[in-house]
Amino acid sequence: MNYYSTNKQAPLATLKEAVVKGLAGDRGLYMPEEIKRLPDSFFRDMKDMSFQEIAFVVAEAFFGSDVEKETLKQIVYDTLNFDAPVVQVTDRIYSLELYHGPTLAFKDVGARFMARLLGYFIKKEKQNNVNVLVATSGDTGSAVANGFLGVEGIHVYVLYPRGKVSKIQECQFTTLGQNITAIEVDGTFDDCQALVKSAFMDEELNKKLYLTSANSINVARFLPQAFYYFYAYAQLLKQGKADQVVVCVPSGNFGNITAGLFAKRMGLPVKRFIAANNSNDIFFEYLQTGHYNPRASVATIANAMDVGDPSNFARILDLYGKSHDAIAADISGARYDNEQIAETVESVYAKEGYLLDPHGACGYQALEDGLKPGEVGVFLETAHPAKFKETVEDIIGEEVEIPVRLQKFMKGKKQSVPLSKQFADFKKYLLQ
Ligand SMILES: *Cc1c(COP(=O)(O)O)cnc(C)c1O
Repeated sequence: MNYYSTNKQAPLATLKEAVVKGLAGDRGLYMPEEIKRLPDSFFRDMKDMSFQEIAFVVAEAFFGSDVEKETLKQIVYDTLNFDAPVVQVTDRIYSLELYHGPTLAFKDVGARFMARLLGYFIKKEKQNNVNVLVATSGDTGSAVANGFLGVEGIHVYVLYPRGKVSKIQECQFTTLGQNITAIEVDGTFDDCQALVKSAFMDEELNKKLYLTSANSINVARFLPQAFYYFYAYAQLLKQGKADQVVVCVPSGNFGNITAGLFAKRMGLPVKRFIAANNSNDIFFEYLQTGHYNPRASVATIANAMDVGDPSNFARILDLYGKSHDAIAADISGARYDNEQIAETVESVYAKEGYLLDPHGACGYQALEDGLKPGEVGVFLETAHPAKFKETVEDIIGEEVEIPVRLQKFMKGKKQSVPLSKQFADFKKYLLQ
């Protein structure tokens, strides 16, 4: 299958080209030329299928013409070696827990899939010297580093701002070793991102090294996120709760929700979606007014959603033929400030005994406020509350236990390369 750019000025790309390039030459986002509708029988039978089985059917619809069946199956099964259970929170609100992977956030799914797909392409073409560069403010670095850990032929450089990443996050990409190098930049997240961008534009570097990115706009990270929408629906179907399903997604760059919209286009009978924002409410505003006004983000306690110009908005526009009416018919919005987020975490913990993280709290509250009679809601719990330990402990006044697999990282020895924010230093380091 070919991929076109949302800006329509770049040539069509093969799957491999789209994965290696990330962003199209015209700075648009890649979209698959076709979104296949899955057969009715699949939607009937899925209640008795495993997460891996369901995901493989979805993966074949996207990647079946580019990757041999057995290989694709192995990539999918390897990626999803953990569960994504739907857990009941109230009589009609359910949590899709996406934090059972190695770094306790939903980004594990896309990062693990991308690592394996890129590993496959590299092996096929007998390349063994691909360098993945990724800038992180925390979560992305850990998911990408762990996703690519041990993948042959690929070396990952994670650039992060010194002293601006929590200890829990830092240890998830600085203790791994093998093919993962953490680079501690004396600067901000924006400096890290600027270094990565400069590297991609540097002619000499690109001549001598094979560079690629693993950011969230990459189709290999983005499309696999559709898997768990089908699996969530299947779990509700099994319980006889799937007649009027509303899916609510705590959103930042809008990649996660866009994958859900793709799932709907493939026939998944979701009634409607809700995009939950924090105070960075650009999309919420767009739904109300029809105007898209990107602006600088503000810091909140749901910091993975602090995005002022959501990159996947271009994909949503493209999917709906730029029609505001069509978008607003499928998606409604909600927004919550820090105080409201904290209130939700506190009250749901007190009343239901369920501990939300600040992102999932936005999702939960939007369902609580927006569900209509007869509807059943499922929100995406995008990370484990222990990833935001201090924030959550401050809210509930109790200690939050750190899961064993997170504790393991914390016992490892930190290894990182300190660098200035000067591109010349970074370039010299990469070349040596
Ligand atoms: C990345 C992230 C989000 C936002 O997802 P998008 O796909 O960027 O909308 C929400 N919650 C958590 C915990 C995240 O890490």
